[in-house]
Amino acid sequence: MNSTLTAFAYLFASVLFIVGLKMLSSPRTARRGNVIGALGMLIAIVVTLTDKKIIDFTLIIAGLLVGSAIGLVLARKVQMTGMPQMVGVLNGFGGGASTLVAYAEYMRLGELHTTTSLDVLITIPLSLLIGTVTFVGSMVAAAKLQGIMTGAPILYPFQKQTNAAMLAAIVILTVFFVMNPAQWYLLIFIIVLSTVLGVTSVIPIGGADMPVVISLMNSYSGLAGATTGFILSNSVLIISGTLVGTSGIILTQIMCKAMNRSLGNVLFAGVGTDYSGPAARAEQRTVVRYTPDDAAMMIDNAQSIIIVPGYGLAVAQAQHVLQEMVSTLTALGKTVRYAIHPVAGRMPGHMNVLLAEANAPYDILMEMDQINDDFQNTDIAMVIGANDVVNPAARTKKESPLYGMPILNVDHARTVMVFKRSLNPGFAGEDNELFYGKSTMMVFGDAKTSLTGLVQILKK
Ligand code: NAP
Repeated sequence: MNSTLTAFAYLFASVLFIVGLKMLSSPRTARRGNVIGALGMLIAIVVTLTDKKIIDFTLIIAGLLVGSAIGLVLARKVQMTGMPQMVGVLNGFGGGASTLVAYAEYMRLGELHTTTSLDVLITIPLSLLIGTVTFVGSMVAAAKLQGIMTGAPILYPFQKQTNAAMLAAIVILTVFFVMNPAQWYLLIFIIVLSTVLGVTSVIPIGGADMPVVISLMNSYSGLAGATTGFILSNSVLIISGTLVGTSGIILTQIMCKAMNRSLGNVLFAGVGTDYSGPAARAEQRTVVRYTPDDAAMMIDNAQSIIIVPGYGLAVAQAQHVLQEMVSTLTALGKTVRYAIHPVAGRMPGHMNVLLAEANAPYDILMEMDQINDDFQNTDIAMVIGANDVVNPAARTKKESPLYGMPILNVDHARTVMVFKRSLNPGFAGEDNELFYGKSTMMVFGDAKTSLTGLVQILKK
């Protein structure tokens, strides 16, 4: 393919990536943004395949078929609650691919090492470092979320110092490699050290800090792609990798803010705590219990309602019946809105995706900052399968893993109704004082069952 045409096609694909990304920033345009980004990727792939005859098409088509089949099965089989792990694994594959490509390119260069330019020589070890840390770190994060390994922080003495020492060793190995690129075993040392670093930088992170790891790994996978782009002199890979890297870091910062963690703290693997507060158990104290019938009566008399969805909504798959309730209440003339906490659920945007699936109107989906001051003028705050994001311990309890995280002010509403199965704590393992509040009513049971009952009564 003509090189001007290739450059033009890459530029066009990059513009599609940028436009697609921009559209992803609003739920209204997100679906179209996704399609536009995918179109950009298709163009980039087709042009690369026709431009560079790297391997023969039989292998490419075989890989495409196997990959598509696995992707199709996963997309159909993985539950909504398993999406964070899935995203983690996919980020990891991006990093792993960068490692493989960087090493393969080093092998391909063969005797040409001596004439290879300095920037390529520097980016090979860099790509191996970022790619491997992303791959291994993402797998550890996914294993933690899947419950294959403990979700609690694993801490040991001099953790940060050993991580820093490993990083320093990788930098030194890189310098030696650049001075003498024929020493292939230096790259193997870098891969081994990066593998250990991938594990040791993620295991101390646990509990409520997990979203930061997922979005940080997403950013790393982009950076790994961008460095590989430099190795291959492929402009579209550099641009798309940089876009993923920067948007991932912006998301990381948003998540950090939402959880009151500093980015430096995350980057140097200081995230996590040796907090050993209450485990997953319920306190033996009295709460006010409501049946769906009682709740319906109270809702009937209310004018303004704010709904706070959480992870339990995804577990119960109650988003459709919830939206049905919202439509019923709106038809009855009540003001109903959703309040979305940035880390509600198990991945960034989890609640938005869930509610979009149920066709919840975008104009009643409110972000925390938009709606938090309105709770005080609201009749009922309905908390559906949410826990940590409404836990007042985040405001008051210094030793809690949630301390400092901004929460939704549901306790400022006139009445709080909590729909969950028990008094068990949420993801962070912290008991929730809200359940024992004077104006709190607990509606125990599976959210879908309770809401289905509620809707039936409201419709009568
Ligand atoms: P949460 O604190 O994990 O609480 C979810 C609650 O849902 C649980 O207490 C559980 O109580 C209830 N539940 C589970 N299944 C249910 C069902 N079938 N019906 C009704 N209730 C059910 O959730 P959250 O308030 O959404 O907070 C999210 C937490 O996850 C935060 O700590 C956040 O940091 C963390 N996290 C977030 C992300 C992200 O990116 N959003 C990623 C990883 C981790 P019962 O067992 O009593 O029913």
